[in-house]
Amino acid sequence: MKNFLLAVSILTAISPTLSFANQFFLAWPTPNPSFAKGLGYSNFLQKTGPDKDFTSGAYGCVRNHGNKFHEGLDLFPINRTPEGIAEDTIFSAMSGTVAYICRSPTDSAYGKYIVLEHEQFTPVLYTLYAHLEEIHQNLTHRSQVVVAQPIGKMGNTASFRIPLNRSHLHFEVGIRLSNNFDKWYNRQRFRTPNKHTNYNGYNLVGLDPLKFYSSYQKYSFSSPRSYLLKLPTITKVQINFSQTPDLLLRNPSLLLNPEYNESVKSWVCSFGPFGFPLNFEKSSVSLKQQITVLSYDEKNDSQFCRRMIYKKNGKLFPSEQLIAYLELIFLD
Ligand SMILES: [Zn+2]
Repeated sequence: MKNFLLAVSILTAISPTLSFANQFFLAWPTPNPSFAKGLGYSNFLQKTGPDKDFTSGAYGCVRNHGNKFHEGLDLFPINRTPEGIAEDTIFSAMSGTVAYICRSPTDSAYGKYIVLEHEQFTPVLYTLYAHLEEIHQNLTHRSQVVVAQPIGKMGNTASFRIPLNRSHLHFEVGIRLSNNFDKWYNRQRFRTPNKHTNYNGYNLVGLDPLKFYSSYQKYSFSSPRSYLLKLPTITKVQINFSQTPDLLLRNPSLLLNPEYNESVKSWVCSFGPFGFPLNFEKSSVSLKQQITVLSYDEKNDSQFCRRMIYKKNGKLFPSEQLIAYLELIFLD
């Protein structure tokens, strides 16, 4: 709790300065104080329809009767004009840099959105703020932001229709897989060109923001790495690949054996819930198959969507989703 208050005090009591930039503070991305006060989901999550449960605005297999994954949180506004237009200011969740801005309301399912990268922390997390009505005009690519800095205004923009009364912030926290997303994208059979460079949703893997914020509230961890170390490994796979993926060049803390001196022929990769990449190990072993499943915690894998592994004739195989993640990480 004290850190939430501290983040807010940066806004209200002291003018934001970069001296806060390297300390790990988290701020809630909307002015709604309910989460910081420990109130339940219904006080901040935007449900997908009047007859739906509030958890439909949470992270996980919460859509289409559990069959569709939602990679972030949907947060409703606490301020509206008499006409019902959302007026909430959106705040940066951590200090960082503007990595991408999409000012077109219809070029993406995210609508107008902004992605920040938090390069001073380990590993480098991204945060994404979508369906915005407005992104502050003074923010451009590579602008520096401090924690709890106003970056835009909540809205209902998207390439599909979001009714005014369901205006919300779609908020994600996670890790970016590749520096060369277009190379992967152009190999797929998508009908439209990628308009969002490396900040296309396919290249961004979100973690559960509520668990991340709750853990921060309880333990005040000093870097995102401390949080990731607590996450369970759902599956471990080994993949033949001799180069070092750019994910690990950007995030050396994800590598468990940096001192390994033998020539690398493959990598052992551990993935957490919903395929979040947790850590990697170099290996000099070349395997018969391109990808081998080493372990799988079936009961803790997501039940209806985003399964990492499937079973056929008693054998374990990587799911399409896991293959896509591996292709993006180990892109040749
Ligand atoms: Zn959403």
